[in-house]
Amino acid sequence: MTDTPAPSNFIRDLIQEDLKNGRFQRVHTRFPPEPNGYLHIGHAKAFIIDFGIALDYGGKCNLRFDDTNPVKEETEYVDAIMEDIRWIGYDWEDRLFYASDYFEQLYQFAVKLIHKGAAYVDDLSADKIREYRGTLTEPGRDSPFRSRTVEENLDLFKRMRDGEFPDGARVLRAKIDMVSGNMNMRDPVMYRILKANHHRTGDRWCIYPMYDFAHGQSDSIEGITHSLCSLEYEDHRPLYDWFLDQLEIYHPRQIEFARLELSYTVLSKRMLIQLVRGKYVVGWDDPRMPTISGMRRRGYTPESIRNFIERVGVAKNYSIVDVSLLEYCVREDLNKHTPRVMGVLKPLKVIIDNYPIDQEEELEAMVNPEDPTAGTRKVWFSRELFIEQDDFREIPPPKYFRLAPGKEVRLRSGYFIRCEEVVKNPTTGEVVELHCTYDPDTRGGYAPDGRKVQGTLHWVSARHCLDAEIRLYDRLFLKPDPTQTAPGGSFIDNINPDSLLVLNGCKVEASLKGAKPGYRCQFERMGYFCVDPDSTPGKLVFNRTATLRDTWAKIEEAQKK
Ligand code: ATP
Ligand code: MG
Repeated sequence: MTDTPAPSNFIRDLIQEDLKNGRFQRVHTRFPPEPNGYLHIGHAKAFIIDFGIALDYGGKCNLRFDDTNPVKEETEYVDAIMEDIRWIGYDWEDRLFYASDYFEQLYQFAVKLIHKGAAYVDDLSADKIREYRGTLTEPGRDSPFRSRTVEENLDLFKRMRDGEFPDGARVLRAKIDMVSGNMNMRDPVMYRILKANHHRTGDRWCIYPMYDFAHGQSDSIEGITHSLCSLEYEDHRPLYDWFLDQLEIYHPRQIEFARLELSYTVLSKRMLIQLVRGKYVVGWDDPRMPTISGMRRRGYTPESIRNFIERVGVAKNYSIVDVSLLEYCVREDLNKHTPRVMGVLKPLKVIIDNYPIDQEEELEAMVNPEDPTAGTRKVWFSRELFIEQDDFREIPPPKYFRLAPGKEVRLRSGYFIRCEEVVKNPTTGEVVELHCTYDPDTRGGYAPDGRKVQGTLHWVSARHCLDAEIRLYDRLFLKPDPTQTAPGGSFIDNINPDSLLVLNGCKVEASLKGAKPGYRCQFERMGYFCVDPDSTPGKLVFNRTATLRDTWAKIEEAQKK
């Protein structure tokens, strides 16, 4: 179930219908992020739908930054958003737009509404506007400034633009219906005064359109046919329709779908920014973050993210997706495509007493058993090796198939070895090294006499291996719904204090020399790993992308019992 043809969904059905009955002759979508943070996996759902549907119908998809709030927006975010969309595999070609490109046009739209008597300048404070708006159960009341004449409104709005009034002194509002059952229709604010520097228009403007006044008109200006967005915009649709009808301009069709929600994860820029600013993570691209940049650093592939979104599907009803599905998707992809190597996380020295001191040899090992075309690689073998501490027990428990005194095991792609002697630290009693013997006839891992061993261990040659730091990750939150807190608490209280475990002194096989950040591999038996940008020429740093098997599901299962 890789990149198979996309299954039908209700959005495709509606588009199909529009094309058939002639409402539209083409498909043109857009992805409209606000550049106030990095993209997360929920945004990936949105833009995979936007770009994916355009591709399916031979149409186009624009990238448009909805940059109407100068206070929260930055160029850093614009650049990161573009990088992330490209990395997932989509291209907006020459169709990169900004809502700020339309500021003059939007201003003229507002003037047109004033002329029609459909907008007015209000002097009420923000608090008063809120008070007058009423509630879901109480109707709103008209502002005392609602009946200003067209001339007065035109004059005041122009003077707002000219910078005559301080921030917050006045706003421009749509004149719709203060008793509407839809709160969005109770004379929403269209423009506010904000003497702030904008990342693109600088100080040219001191009034800025509200998102709701900019969004629908931007779609209209760009000739978008289908404005696909998440469900929370459903209640805004009547307002977007109202503006377009009043302005008598081209009218796209808006279709809403359910937002992606993931267990053990927060998907809201407001919360993600708190994690970054509060230094609970190292940055937006911390491998524990559900951001696209975090997932990339962690070792996720674009294919695995696209497959995940495909499997989640597009629906109109809200549901929380189990994060283990995401982990399953990345494992499935990495299993097929990543080379196998050996890396020892917690090393234990092994000395092969009957192997000549000066000897060394290169053994042949499969690059990827799932992909025979990937060929073989060379692995150094010598007298001193490292194995995993966990792969030895002085007193083995029942069914322990790994190394123990007197027992024989196979070294992966190597030889059979038998443990002859255990050396301990005399004061602590800790096992510090093992003396073993090897059987030279078992090269490649099979005994000509047909004798079997029960365990196969990974290992590296002490003389040849490289030093590494390995970072193991667990979920960032302890609860399936991190926003569930004690009264007065915050989602921050639910952070998992053990979400990062840094291992130093790890040993990895020599073939990894020079591996670049972003390089992905499977450490046999230990999981999937990816080289981190923190690596230096002397020390590789790896992030564990995922364990080999879904241990999490098992733990949860056990806890339920
Ligand atoms: P956030 O709550 O993270 O701030 P947002 O909706 O304010 O998200 P935008 O930059 O406005 O962020 O989002 C761009 C587009 O991505 C919107 O059309 C929105 O519908 C969509 N989107 C945002 N979050 C999700 C999600 N979790 N699932 C699906 N689509 C999403
Ligand atoms: Mg938004």
